[in-house]
Amino acid sequence: MEKIKIDNNIFGEFLSAKEISERLVEMGKEITEDYAGKTPILVGVLNGSVIFFSDLIREIKCDCEIDFIRVSSYEKAMRSSGIVKVHKDVNSNLEGRHVLLVEDIVDSGLSVTYLREKLLKSNPASLKIVSLLLKPEQAKIDFEVDYVGFEIPPAFVIGYGLDYEQKYRNLKAIYSLIEERTV
Ligand code: 5GP
Repeated sequence: MEKIKIDNNIFGEFLSAKEISERLVEMGKEITEDYAGKTPILVGVLNGSVIFFSDLIREIKCDCEIDFIRVSSYEKAMRSSGIVKVHKDVNSNLEGRHVLLVEDIVDSGLSVTYLREKLLKSNPASLKIVSLLLKPEQAKIDFEVDYVGFEIPPAFVIGYGLDYEQKYRNLKAIYSLIEERTV
């Protein structure tokens, strides 16, 4: 297993670039079938979903539009703060549209629940959520994710858009924390 050491934390490769791209083909096919005859608008949650978003939309074969929203829920550290702050809102009018919110990872579910409630205020025709990763054991509230790439254990992950203190988003694979710095 390929390992990376960052600030004395050890991360091991958890999902290879090949595994991710193969899963995205399946997800794209499912989304294409579900939205046949419609023109959904995909709303990417910046910054983490940007790599997943750009790869996923190229696996979707129906007409679609894109927009972005930027929120933060993590404050520098590797733990969820539960605080959701909107830094950039969507530009499109979502009223009557089929909206597909694209998340990189759902951990406690607090961000996605906040975003769902926020986007529903625009009266979309439908609102679904797609997330590359889901940590089911971390859920702090009841919520639903319509399309999930991979269900993963609670460990902190980086790469493929996911950051460690804003860096390492450009790694092609996803790495999981296997040994945490103790001092
Ligand atoms: P939640 O509100 O579900 O607890 O957290 C969602 C957000 O927290 C994600 O969009 C992501 O930005 C961040 N996050 C949650 N788990 C991880 C993780 O394992 N690694 C990284 N890099 N970010 C995470």
